[in-house]
Amino acid sequence: MKKLGVIFDNLYLQHDNGMGHPESPQRLLAIHDMLTTTGLINEVTRINPRDATQEEICLVHDPEYFNLIKSTRGRPRIFLDPDTSTSPLSFDAALRAAGGMLSGIDSVVKKEVDIAFALVRPPGHHAEKNRAMGFCLFNNIAVGAAYAINSYGFKRILIVDWDLHHGNGTQNIFYTSPNVLYFSLHQYPYYPGTGGINEVGAKEGTGYNVNVPLPAGMGDKEYIKVFFEILGPIAQQYRPEIVLVSAGFDPYFDDPLGGMQVTPSGFAQMGRFLKELAESVCDGRLVLILEGGYNLEGLWHSTKAVIEELIGKRKTRYEDKDNVTKADAVIEQVKKVQSQFWRF
Ligand SMILES: [Zn+2]
Repeated sequence: MKKLGVIFDNLYLQHDNGMGHPESPQRLLAIHDMLTTTGLINEVTRINPRDATQEEICLVHDPEYFNLIKSTRGRPRIFLDPDTSTSPLSFDAALRAAGGMLSGIDSVVKKEVDIAFALVRPPGHHAEKNRAMGFCLFNNIAVGAAYAINSYGFKRILIVDWDLHHGNGTQNIFYTSPNVLYFSLHQYPYYPGTGGINEVGAKEGTGYNVNVPLPAGMGDKEYIKVFFEILGPIAQQYRPEIVLVSAGFDPYFDDPLGGMQVTPSGFAQMGRFLKELAESVCDGRLVLILEGGYNLEGLWHSTKAVIEELIGKRKTRYEDKDNVTKADAVIEQVKKVQSQFWRF
């Protein structure tokens, strides 16, 4: 059995996007409800997150942008983007959401737990260096990766982003860096518009950005095949020192914002894959953070499946690797482009 640290905090419920917004506190309440009603709460280790400091946030964000978000503190709703707004406690929640990632990294690197899963909001992967977008204020996972480089001297960090959407912010922040390899599979073309196959990084970072843009309708078979065919070989060659995961549950088959067909078993298979990958390349160091996912029942069942997989309570069978899938054409195109940098 693995010791899983689960990070949550009531402050995460205080960020409010307004009535009827899909990115609601109910999302975390659904996961909390799952943890208590299943009793899984007693099989994980609760970690209380700290706040990220201004200095840590500004490892990836401009100070002017930090101050803009800070200026919303205590004020009524301020719109930063058509679908992203703040409430009086949003800044505080956002500092602690990024801090949740940092507490997760600390507890895994210091071996207080084997794996950590930060159940935070607001989410982060759309946030750019100097701009809020797509429900995101600070880019939690990017702050985490920069912190791991800065504080622990890591030189190779793998970020796997299985959210339905492309993480434009994370890609852009590390686009010229070989120290962070960003891997994303996502619905495409779709919001936010980025994430094409030919976006492979630039300058020193060329070859360290991998996008797998998938048409709508892909399910468990396709997602896990992308992991086996593309992510696995690249990760084995990159040899990351830690694996960070943007775990969005909006590829769920019944998500109101998405068009994918992933089931709880598919999420569990991705969790299993990443746990085994981390064991084989980086002494098991694995930190996940919640991104999207807007069907409350989907969040309940999918996080249950992933957490059971991570602690070793269940071992979800992989889909047959030889399946012919609807993603095969995209997989071949990605391999063709990425074969400039990696062997398949
Ligand atoms: Zn998303």
